[in-house]
Amino acid sequence: SGQCEYNLRSPICCIMGHVDTGKTKLLDCIRGTNVQEGEAGGITQQIGATYFPAENICERTKELKADANLKVPGLLVIDTPGHESFTNLRSRGSGLCDIAILVVDIMHGLERHTIESLNLLKMRNTNFIIALNKVDRLYGWKVCHNASIVKAMKQQSKDVQFEFRTRLTQVITEFKEQGINTELYYKNKDMGKGTFSIVPTSAISAEGIPDLLLLLVQWTAKTMSERLTYNNIVQCTVLEVKVVEGLGTTIDVILVNGVLHEGDQIVVCGMQGPIVTSIRALLTPFPMKELRVKGSYEHHKEIKASQGIKINAQGLEHAIAGTSLYIVGPDDDVEDIKEAAMKDMRSVMSRVDKCGEGVYVQASTLGSLEALLEFLKTPEVSIPVSGIGIGNVHKKDVMKASVMLEKKKEYATILAFDVRVTQEAQELADEVGVKIYTADIIYHLFDQFKAHIDNLKE
Ligand code: GDP
Ligand code: MG
Repeated sequence: SGQCEYNLRSPICCIMGHVDTGKTKLLDCIRGTNVQEGEAGGITQQIGATYFPAENICERTKELKADANLKVPGLLVIDTPGHESFTNLRSRGSGLCDIAILVVDIMHGLERHTIESLNLLKMRNTNFIIALNKVDRLYGWKVCHNASIVKAMKQQSKDVQFEFRTRLTQVITEFKEQGINTELYYKNKDMGKGTFSIVPTSAISAEGIPDLLLLLVQWTAKTMSERLTYNNIVQCTVLEVKVVEGLGTTIDVILVNGVLHEGDQIVVCGMQGPIVTSIRALLTPFPMKELRVKGSYEHHKEIKASQGIKINAQGLEHAIAGTSLYIVGPDDDVEDIKEAAMKDMRSVMSRVDKCGEGVYVQASTLGSLEALLEFLKTPEVSIPVSGIGIGNVHKKDVMKASVMLEKKKEYATILAFDVRVTQEAQELADEVGVKIYTADIIYHLFDQFKAHIDNLKE
């Protein structure tokens, strides 16, 4: 197969964009249509990701006369339930995502989080393709299920084509205002040389989906062969820390490169220091049709990248999502690896003035904490921070925040981003007078805090 011939791993793709642009629907569409047409062809819903085998993509993109050999074994798309998810993944070094899909609603153009996503992509130097979604909303659109966009466009009336052109031009202008050159993908002669490609899509009737899939795999295979060349150095990111009935605390990871084995000794960054443990079980969900076997996972002796995996091991309770997982090899010094595992955490921690006055900040992952700290530091916002935490808000966090009650009352506040507040914590906060603001959009925390300050001033 192509996999052996080229020894490439599957590219990893993130879907980003403003809320309601259709990120979830696009993923559903890619997944669902195939299942409906009985050609699931090995699509598997993995831990935090969906795997699309190359054969499946070939089948789906037939009418575009794709090169039968896609060179990569498949495509691993990270499921992003919230629009902020990408910020949760602190991509170090070569990073987690090889490519991103930036989704823009053709009826709305660029929105606040489109620009936020764009800035993240720029900052991380991640290549991306723009899905100009919801083309079926153009007035009078004639549905051409699963057709390539050129073919679908030919079926449209002059009015629809005109509205499409107008809106496309508007979006291209808006990107230009952000310093980004864009062009329809099939007209883009400068792809990879500074002009980003736009693929018009509908996540409802699937026009343009073949184009998007093909462009993703062809483009990554063509331009990233070095980056995608499989190697044995384990590169692995913790997506989530989860308690599973019968298993205890597990971590969901994306294995970007290398192989993991049952029994491997691993080091993970933890709230209370490095966690050294060994893999008790490597788990993946059963293939889609067997998903009804609820709560059970397939066990593996070893798993090769790129994959989404659930790891069961002892002592993972305080593991921090968004950090790297390390393997202790036979020649490795465990102390060096512990040091490496904690490096991300230390760099974030070092940015907080612990003895000073400021609010308490709590976030779901190290990456989201980092994003929030960066945001709070910007001159327009400028909210000082005295303490930080990762994970849900507990009583102990309220206690820490309450220290400010005597120093500077307005800072006796917890800004909780993308986390839950336990009932006990809320009760204690109400009792002592600590304010807790929760949001899953960073800006909303600022708005709430600002209202709180204004309120106190009156
Ligand atoms: P997300 O917040 O970006 O994940 O957006 P969703 O996938 O949840 O979609 C938001 C809304 O837009 C839902 O009501 C979808 O049904 C709708 N939607 C998404 N994609 C399309 C599309 O291509 N065409 C149309 N007409 N509606 C869409
Ligand atoms: Mg969504």
